[in-house]
Order: sequence, then C-alpha cells, then structure tokens
Amino acid sequence: MSIKHYDLLAIGGGSGGLSAAERAALHGKKAAVIESGRMGGTCVNVGCVPKKVMWNAAGIAHSLRDAQGYGFDVMLNHFDWSHLVSGRDDYIKGINDWYGTYLKDSDVDVIHGQARFVDAHTLEVDGKRYSADHIVIAPGGVPMVPAIPGAEHGITSDGFFALKEQPKRIAIVGAGYIAVELAGLMRALGSEVDLLLRGQHFLSSFDPMLRESLMEEMLNDGVNILPNISINEVIKGEDGHLSLHAQGGHQLTGFDCLIWAIGRAPNTMDLNLESAGVAMNERGYIPTDEFQNTNVPGVYAVGDVTGRAQLTPVAIAAARRLGDRLFNNQPERKLDYENIPTVMFSHPPIGTVGLSEDEAREIHGDAIKVYQTRFTPMYHAMTPHKTKTAMKLVCVGAKERIVGIHMIGHGVDEMLQGFAVALKMGATKKDFDDTVAIHPTSSEELVTMR
Ligand code: FAD
Ligand code: NDP
Repeated sequence: MSIKHYDLLAIGGGSGGLSAAERAALHGKKAAVIESGRMGGTCVNVGCVPKKVMWNAAGIAHSLRDAQGYGFDVMLNHFDWSHLVSGRDDYIKGINDWYGTYLKDSDVDVIHGQARFVDAHTLEVDGKRYSADHIVIAPGGVPMVPAIPGAEHGITSDGFFALKEQPKRIAIVGAGYIAVELAGLMRALGSEVDLLLRGQHFLSSFDPMLRESLMEEMLNDGVNILPNISINEVIKGEDGHLSLHAQGGHQLTGFDCLIWAIGRAPNTMDLNLESAGVAMNERGYIPTDEFQNTNVPGVYAVGDVTGRAQLTPVAIAAARRLGDRLFNNQPERKLDYENIPTVMFSHPPIGTVGLSEDEAREIHGDAIKVYQTRFTPMYHAMTPHKTKTAMKLVCVGAKERIVGIHMIGHGVDEMLQGFAVALKMGATKKDFDDTVAIHPTSSEELVTMR
C-alpha cells in the first residue's frame, strides 16, 4: 500500500488542528488536516459562532425592551425563531465553504474521515494510510450526558443548535459557561428557563463578585435559578413533556426541552492512541509539556483535548506557536497559559482575566489590595429596566501590580481585550491612574477607581 507522506498531519479541522496545519504551510511545509465532520470544528459549527449569533439576537430583544425609555413606541409582534436559525446556519455554511478555498490557497490538503493511529508516525483514514514527521492531535471534545435513567430525553449544546422550533419551557442542567450562556439568551428570546444547579452557585471558579452580580441580574430577568438540585431520573410523558426527578423527592414537570450542560469529555476514545504509545490521563485528556509535546516524540496535542483552558484562541495560539517552533527555528516558542482573558456571553456579559480575589489572597496573603465599583451605566439612565455594572481590580504588593481584572456589565465583552494586554505587561494601579479616562463610558471607571 502506498502511503502519502507529510511534514505535518493534524487530526481535527477545528481551531487547533487548522491552525497547526496553516502555520506549517506558512513556513513552507507540506501539511494536511483530517476532519471527520464539518470544517471549523466546535467553535464554528456548534460553539462560539452560532452561540454569538444567538447572543446578539438576545441583546436586540433587550434593546427593544429598553427602547421605550428613549421615546420609541415599539410594538413587538413576533419573534421568528426559524428566521434566526436559518440565517445563522447560512452564515456558518459560508464559513465552512470559505475554509475549503482558504486551505486550498494555503496549500493545505484536506482529508475527510475519521483518523486513527497505526503507529506514532502513521494514521489511517477510511482504509488509507498517511504518514508524517509530526502529528498534531486536536480532536476537541464532546458534551457529556449523565448516566441516569431517561437522560436520552435531554439534548446537549449540539442538539440545542439543531432546534428547529423555539422551546417554550426549558430546563438547563449545569453551572458552567454553557448553562449560563444558554439560560440567559433563551430567556431574553422569550422562553421560560429553569437553570438547575447541583450546588449552591454557578461559575464556581469565577470571582464571587461576578457570579453574585450575574445571579442577581438573571433572577431579575426572570430566569428561575434552582440551587442544590441533583437530577436522578427523567421521564417523558405521553404529552411529550419532560418531568425531572431530583434527589430528596423533588419533582419538576412540564418542560418541552431539557439541556445537559455539565461539561465536555475529550474526543480520544477512537484514536487508537495505544498503538502510538500516546498517554492519556484518567479522564481521557492528553497531557503535554509546556511545548505541547506528548510523551511520544513527534506527536503533539493542542486545544480542548489537553484539558487546559478550553477556549478557541487558546487552541489557535498553542498550535501557531507549535508551528513556529517546529518549522521556523524558534525553539523556545510556546504558549504562556497564565492570564488568559475570557468572556462569558451572559446577559450582561462577564469579562475576566488573572487571579480572582480568593486566588490572589491564597497566593499573596495580605499583600493584596482590592478596588471595586458598582454603578448603573449611563445607557440605563432612561430605561425602566436597569442592569448594574460591577468592576474589580485585584492588586499586589507595594507597587500595586494588577493581577486580576473582573467586570460584569454592558460592553465589558469588548472592554477586556485591551485591559488584558495591560495586565499581561505588568501594569500597576498607578499606570491605570495615570491614563486619562474616556468620558462618558463605563470603561473609564477602570482608570478612576479609588
Ligand atoms: P474542536 O474545535 O472541537 O475541533 C476538533 C475537530 O476534530 C472536530 O471538528 C471533530 O469533528 C474533529 N475530530 C475529532 N476526532 C477526529 C478524528 N479521529 N478524525 C478526524 N477528525 C476528528 N470558546 C471561546 O473561546 N469563546 C466562546 O465563545 C466559546 N463558546 C463556546 C460555546 C459552546 C456551546 C461550546 C461547546 C464551546 C465554546 N467554546 C468557546 C470553546 C471552543 O469551541 C473550543 O475551545 C474550541 O473549539 C477547541 O478547539 P479544538 O481545535 O481543540 O477542538
Ligand atoms: P464547564 O466545565 O464550564 O461547566 C460544567 C459545569 O457542569 C460545572 O460547573 C459543574 O458544576 C456542572 N456539572 C458537572 N457535572 C454535573 C452533573 N452531573 N449535574 C449537574 N451539574 C454538573 O462546562 P461547559 O459544558 O459549560 O463548557 C465546556 C467548556 O467550553 C468551558 O469550560 C469553556 O472552556 C468552553 N466554553 C467557553 C465559552 C466562552 O468562552 N464564552 C462558552 C461556552 C463554553 P459544579 O460547579 O457544581 O461542579
């Protein structure tokens, strides 16, 4: 059997795999991406992109609600779910198609199908074999479903993006990014939403100011947040409605949609990693060193499959740096996983980078100083519904180096990126104070805090 040989093969045409192959090609190497589904991976097809389109729609719903405060006599007759969904899907199809042209122009081969290892330098796809000096594993992850009776009556975020009709009454189980984002946007679009937390809080790793403020706003918006609920059975009634049975005899009934948002598992089950000797941890993630090397020379892992900071720009950044290291004579090039900014597309959004107050206190003890503010942004001066903005700076040492920036409120999603650069460069509170404010904005509060 003749085997086609590459400098680099990437398993997965998502954020990580595409970036690794593109960067190899940029440096003049022969690269291919192997993808079993749609080009673009989770982010493009069932993640960031469709989510952001729907978050935008939800934001428009809020603006319509606010419009009357500014004197507009708006009569909302109807919201057309299928219009939104088909427009969103066309937009995504455009991105999928664009990848085809872009990869061709970039001289990256695309191999359609499911890849599995034959050995550390050989992959098999639909009975054909391909070899490479370097193999990058970037198969991402899949949403998890709990092992309880009736769990199959629920859907995951993948199923959510396939919904052809808007559910009227939704139960969302989970306490992380996806649960919070979907709950907020579906409520804004008019569904009744119950958000079921197994613990007391959501977003447990976020600064408490953020999760407490968001919980207050979501309750104000009418999301029914139920803490300490552990579902142990789902029953589908003859009318198609779902009943959820929880520990302690609790019963919740009448849902036409149930969404599991309880985390994701790495897509490593079918890769036949054993034949290449690539090690996984007990949860199926592939550990790497700081240079994305697995335990096998010439085999690397990037993105969600590594279990670290599962965000698109992280997968892209790690893969690009790997490409530069391997093919552009930059032996020390690697991703710094510290201080990664992240935005929760909730209503209102959250933007956060660096250490939470609790983390900073654990590391630096009494050497930390915290500045915070909470206010009603000017946008809400004339709206009946008022959403608060809250901001916190966590500083360390005599020079008050800023080690954490945490914000919730209208516009913080776009505010964070520049401030994350400042934090990464080691900015101090004085640097912030010495920067002239931009008025009237919410972001000026970050450089005027007392
Ligand atoms: P993926 O993008 O998952 O790509 C992996 C690809 O590999 C898939 O296309 C899969 O089909 C393919 N594959 C798997 N196994 C094989 C195989 N054996 N052979 C061939 N192909 C294979 N991140 C953000 O930064 N911002 C957001 O707003 C955001 N929103 C999100 C919303 C949702 C609902 C979800 C689920 C995720 C979101 N994320 C967001 C996370 C982001 O999507 C991921 O971190 C990112 O896609 C990871 O990229 P990756 O390359 O590791 O994997
Ligand atoms: P997360 O890891 O963010 O959260 C999963 C949550 O599910 C945990 O908070 C946990 O709650 C809860 N949970 C786990 N098991 C159960 C269970 N059996 N019953 C009830 N609750 C349970 O996962 P997501 O699926 O929300 O998102 C996956 C990843 O995708 C995120 O971590 C993020 O990296 C990425 N993402 C990024 C987005 C962005 O950048 N805006 C948006 C969406 C996803 P507990 O706290 O109680 O342990």
